[in-house]
Amino acid sequence: MNIILLGPPGAGKGTQASRLQEERGMVQLSTGDMLRAAVKDGTPVGLQAKAVMEAGELVSDEIVSGIIGEALDKLPAETGVIFDGYPRTAAQAESLDDILTGRGRKLDHVIELAVDEDALVERITGRFTCEKCGAGYHDTFKQPKVAGTCDQCGSTEFKRRPDDNEETVRTRMAEYRAKTAPILPIYEARGLLQRVDGMADIDVVNTSIEAILDAK
Ligand code: ADP
Ligand code: ADP
Ligand code: ZN
Repeated sequence: MNIILLGPPGAGKGTQASRLQEERGMVQLSTGDMLRAAVKDGTPVGLQAKAVMEAGELVSDEIVSGIIGEALDKLPAETGVIFDGYPRTAAQAESLDDILTGRGRKLDHVIELAVDEDALVERITGRFTCEKCGAGYHDTFKQPKVAGTCDQCGSTEFKRRPDDNEETVRTRMAEYRAKTAPILPIYEARGLLQRVDGMADIDVVNTSIEAILDAK
């Protein structure tokens, strides 16, 4: 099974993708995570992407579709994939069709996480992750069970993203509205789109997504 999680920055795509990864043995492919790794490693892709990401704008379609194709090539054909943060433009949606077809895969579901814009700034400015294992947390909505200690790996080091500030979030939301939201009707017309209330609790959102994946 191959699915896309679509939604604005802070909608909960990464949170839900890692839940599905744990529960279903699917693999999460997050272009944001891959780009941040490239920036950290100083690769040619990272050098090109760094300033664009810090500004909250979109990295080029060629770069992100390239890294998605490479990531898929490393996975066994039978492994299900959760696309998190990709595609983000109509051109990327088209490339994804070719990328999947060329590898004998097909798209099963596109799940939109619908969230109030007002809530997104609070979600994003409170977001932090474990430095060691990448587990995601929130100052208000998802604190570690033991304060200051990662639930997953026990590390006490955490980090925040440089682009998770209010000003950049506004740019990222504008990019979503202008370039990403227009791909929703394309998937709707193909009968692939399903909408989930992303304002619900993390567990409730997870249950709704599981129900969609189990429906057929
Ligand atoms: P969020 O989860 O908050 O939406 P991501 O981690 O998905 O953010 O993306 C962070 C940044 O990486 C984006 O603001 C953009 O600059 C870049 N990026 C990630 N995925 C894509 C993509 N599919 N197309 C273009 N740029 C991307
Ligand atoms: P995205 O990948 O779509 O940018 P994340 O999954 O990183 O979003 O979620 C953004 C922040 O909001 C994180 O700190 C996460 O812990 C928190 N969060 C995610 N889903 C919910 C939810 N349903 N309710 C409250 N907070 C949430
Ligand atoms: Zn950890």
